[in-house]
Amino acid sequence: MVQPTASRPSAAFPQGSSLIRVEHLTHAINTRAHRTVILDDVTFTIPAQRLFAINGPSGSGKSTLLNMLTGIDRPSSGRVIFGAEELGGRSENALARWRGEHVGIIFQFFQLVPTLTAMENVLLALELGKGGGLPRRAWRERARMCLETAGLGAFAHRLPSELSGGQQQRVAIARALANDPPVLVADEPTGNLDSRTAHGVFDTLASLTQEGKTVIYVTHDRELAARAQARLDLLDGRIVGQHGANALIASSPEVWS
Ligand code: ADP
Ligand code: MG
Repeated sequence: MVQPTASRPSAAFPQGSSLIRVEHLTHAINTRAHRTVILDDVTFTIPAQRLFAINGPSGSGKSTLLNMLTGIDRPSSGRVIFGAEELGGRSENALARWRGEHVGIIFQFFQLVPTLTAMENVLLALELGKGGGLPRRAWRERARMCLETAGLGAFAHRLPSELSGGQQQRVAIARALANDPPVLVADEPTGNLDSRTAHGVFDTLASLTQEGKTVIYVTHDRELAARAQARLDLLDGRIVGQHGANALIASSPEVWS
């Protein structure tokens, strides 16, 4: 079990309450010739300690939106309120520090260090995140617990090349848990896995909500998105459907739910 940390927002925001509020978020890229709108007046809420899916076809703006939620990118207009604080007011340095403490990131192509074992990949994250406040002597046990939570306890001493794709993604989940962030974000984490393995990894991510984590899961797979506890459907940068997200739905003919 990964113990939630009392001082983190997950403890302050009970399951189902609003953790992240996005208001009238618009993002446009201006070139000399024209203006491309990538996100168009997006308003919704991400509930705390739930698995929240951002769904939509390729090019619908999912990754752009995710990068705004974690402050990697800044919107052209609109606000992201994370917990009680607005991200837009922070400097780049403050945002990077904040992200290090609050957000664990899981990538589509795992991004593990190939020369390090599963255990060492997680220990490296602890090293980089200063153990999330844990004393160094507790890091190895912490890494072991994270691997176990991710469903990989038995393979701690294998290199990534000795693991299947699904197992490598589980190492990446353990790594994202290492410093005990309240929020995990995963951009197409199952996009490179077969359907059965994808559902298994989805189940593991969903189970983390029972440990106090809020999981934001980006996917173009409508079947997986439909299994999420809350969901946003994007098309061409607009919200066209939702479940449990308090979203403003764009009034366009493409609306499907
Ligand atoms: P998704 O993750 O849903 O596939 P993205 O958020 O990556 O979608 O991109 C949404 C749209 O915005 C795409 O049409 C993409 O080509 C465009 N886009 C993303 N970033 C940029 C950029 N920096 N400059 C121009 N267009 C961009
Ligand atoms: Mg994307």
